[in-house]
Amino acid sequence: MQSSATSAASAPAAAEPVMACTFCAKPSTEVGRLVAGPGVFICNECVALCTELIAAPPVGEPRELVRKIELSDEELLAHLPRVAAASAQVEQQLTSFVRQGRRQGITWTRIGAALGMTRQSAWERFSGEE
Ligand SMILES: [Zn+2]
Repeated sequence: MQSSATSAASAPAAAEPVMACTFCAKPSTEVGRLVAGPGVFICNECVALCTELIAAPPVGEPRELVRKIELSDEELLAHLPRVAAASAQVEQQLTSFVRQGRRQGITWTRIGAALGMTRQSAWERFSGEE
């Protein structure tokens, strides 16, 4: 995990997108702290909840827990926009990291290799050029 964190007290610049917790989808402006990971973020509230869950006796293996979650159609539909928003934010972070790499002089060939894709595919996906 990266050591960078942002505080709700520091307002982002006008062009800077507001980052949101990947777990609860709350924007950085609505939480006390947002800690950055590789393309994802977690807020202080989710960290506190995770700390409680980790301290509690284990309920089962993570794979078992995922299978046990049964959502109604309405719950599932309400969850979809949050998953899509998290996915979009991760994509935005990935693009930002790739562009930083380009500014540092890393070739499209090496970026593509790191992502398991061709140089051409990396360029088409991240360059922003047509
Ligand atoms: Zn959160």
